[in-house]
Amino acid sequence: MTVDKEEFARQEAELDELYREIIIDHYRSPRNRGKLPSPTVSREGFNPLCGDEITLDLSVADGVIVDVRYDGQGCSISQSSASMLTDAVKGKELEEARSLFRRFQAMMVGSGVADPEELGDLEALSGVRKFPVRVKCATLAWHTLDEALESLLQGKS
Ligand code: ZN
Repeated sequence: MTVDKEEFARQEAELDELYREIIIDHYRSPRNRGKLPSPTVSREGFNPLCGDEITLDLSVADGVIVDVRYDGQGCSISQSSASMLTDAVKGKELEEARSLFRRFQAMMVGSGVADPEELGDLEALSGVRKFPVRVKCATLAWHTLDEALESLLQGKS
């Protein structure tokens, strides 16, 4: 499957203006981008439909995510979602982060109602739901996070 850049650009232009501004802000001014020198766990994610790549590093102490970084390349939705994720999970307990992943996932598949207070900037990604193929872009970083959390909660990294 080839990436239709023009089609993707058209989809992004069709997003609600407020949502688009938030996504573009995170894409242009990424939060917590880079790598941690000695992460507790590091996981890579790849979305073959779009070519998006994400590496997520977590530093965990006493069951709390004390630091988090992401690196990667791909479309604006995949990269801005990773930036929002790092903002959202920093300082959270592992189970809290997993619970946030589940609520975000529910919002993205349309079975959950987004609570703007709770999800913050993440709500902007709900606008991507009208382009089903792009939901994988928005959830890539989150599935990568879930894998990292799973390994931590299972006691292996
Ligand atoms: Zn993408």
